[in-house]
Amino acid sequence: MADIIALLPDHVANQIAAGEVIQRPSSAVKELIENAVDAGATEIQLIVKDAGKTLIQVIDNGKGMSPTDLRMAFERHATSKIRLAEDLFQLDTKGFRGEALASIAAVAHVEAHSRPKDAEVASSIQIEGTTVVSQEVSVAPKGTSIAIKNLFFNIPARRNFLKTDAVELRHIIDEFQRVALAHPDLAFSLLHNGSELFDLPKANLKRRLSQVMGGKFEEKIVAIEEETPLVQIKGYLVKPNFAKKSRGQQFFFVNQRFIKSPFLHHALCAAFEGLLKDGYQPGYFIFLQVSPEHIDINIHPTKTEIKFEDEQSLYAILKSAVKHSLGMFQVTPALDFDRDPTMDPSYSTTQSSPKMPSIEVDASFNPFQDKKERPTKQTGQWDSLYAGLQSESVASPSLGMDVPQESSKVFQLFQKYIVSSLRSGLLVIDQQRAHQRVLYEQFLNHLTGQPSPRQQLLFPLHKELAPHERVLLESHQDTIAALGFEIEWEDSQLTIKGIPAICSESQIDEVLEALLSMEEQAIESYSPSDLMAKIMAKTLSIKSGKILEHQEQDRLINDLFACKETQVSPFNRQIFVTLEKDELEKKLN
Ligand code: ADP
Ligand code: MG
Repeated sequence: MADIIALLPDHVANQIAAGEVIQRPSSAVKELIENAVDAGATEIQLIVKDAGKTLIQVIDNGKGMSPTDLRMAFERHATSKIRLAEDLFQLDTKGFRGEALASIAAVAHVEAHSRPKDAEVASSIQIEGTTVVSQEVSVAPKGTSIAIKNLFFNIPARRNFLKTDAVELRHIIDEFQRVALAHPDLAFSLLHNGSELFDLPKANLKRRLSQVMGGKFEEKIVAIEEETPLVQIKGYLVKPNFAKKSRGQQFFFVNQRFIKSPFLHHALCAAFEGLLKDGYQPGYFIFLQVSPEHIDINIHPTKTEIKFEDEQSLYAILKSAVKHSLGMFQVTPALDFDRDPTMDPSYSTTQSSPKMPSIEVDASFNPFQDKKERPTKQTGQWDSLYAGLQSESVASPSLGMDVPQESSKVFQLFQKYIVSSLRSGLLVIDQQRAHQRVLYEQFLNHLTGQPSPRQQLLFPLHKELAPHERVLLESHQDTIAALGFEIEWEDSQLTIKGIPAICSESQIDEVLEALLSMEEQAIESYSPSDLMAKIMAKTLSIKSGKILEHQEQDRLINDLFACKETQVSPFNRQIFVTLEKDELEKKLN
């Protein structure tokens, strides 16, 4: 048999490597910024167009490259950072695999300029899909500038796979934040489509946290510090009363490299146990310094996961350091978990104005009927449901004996369910799910038709938000307006002038926070606006545990059966069950 094995040509091998290293624009951003940090730059500029789909450029004032190095840098396995296998265990640079630039060049158009500190002139190089198009002497300031255009121009599948600009930009901001937090002593900036999202002058860590996470952050955090032979721990914890539902405040760095570690995250959660309200996330910015020979960074192509030699000890040390820091600052007694439910607006007040938008639906719901039998007349009144049942019963005597309308009873059970007697049995409705359904349909209606009624605030609310939060809200501004918000921006300050009529002022913080963490919420949705409608419904719905007046119970039942869908909540949970007379009789047999 003839020999059939051949070495892959470089451009193919590079494209394969690119598949692992460069998954989306943000991966290229990470590699370029890390190279700039490794090059000893003190100022690093990131310029992005169309969320990186059109342009990603990183300009640094680092040590630069000679013309030969600039050419070599784009070869596979070309690196200045390690020479021997042993060096892998003494790493103090971000990069070392020597494949980032080669991978990028394989899937994009690259233009790079570089000028070493002692050189008179710069050199430039142009590469398109691994092919060097030109290399020449050029004029450029000291340092390096690498521009990536038309990412994935030769891999349509991957290009088509990219998400919306808002999502891709969010990934870029994530990577940018991670490096910026790891290196507060360096200046960073980020320009997107000509507008400046971040401008971070050199700072200390505490200051940098505020720069990145948004205003007054310094007041929300406490320091953590611990030194042991195994590990040195530094950083900040978010005080539990400023915790968020989102995971946007969780950062581990090991030797100034951002890493993901479910294991260490678990240690943090364990230390915060009992201090956080249900559904709230611990916030932390933890910097671990570990001797490089005790870790293995090389287990993941993008190097965001690492292996520790002595995980168990690390876990224990970290957990106790966190507990100690939380205890020292006596953050515990300041907590106030239990909101007085009587302070919440009642269902009837939040529902009374505005009027329910009229929805074209079959309101005369009867849970004991097949769909085909369902009467089509539209009344929107709960009592008419019973009326419908009565008249129906004449035609179908199998439903049981006639029950006078007055005998229908509605009451609340376990502060959680609304129970109603029906002529043919019993109906038990989950109040929270039912209300979620009602609100969800209401918001969908606002998104597709009439915008939500809005209440103007007498005193506009001001919120300091982080740059990435502004980006998020701005990318959904039409939806936010349709939902009933009126907002304005002045730099990082958000002014809320109007809110959805259904929402009370005291709920605004929670709503805002839920919307800001929309991307992390594991909620299935058809579109971002559908997701926002669901989040609003979830946040504003009456909850289990809320006592409802009789009138409110009736109203909720009415509203539910005026919905287009009555069976399941927007989160696909069953809203009610029925217990039929037959079943009852079987049980009591
Ligand atoms: P690695 O970072 O793993 O070494 P890369 O492909 O990212 O691999 O870069 C290859 C080499 O190019 C680096 O080792 C470094 O010598 C050089 N290089 C890359 N970016 C820069 C930069 N911004 N300034 C100076 N040198 C750089
Ligand atoms: Mg690199």
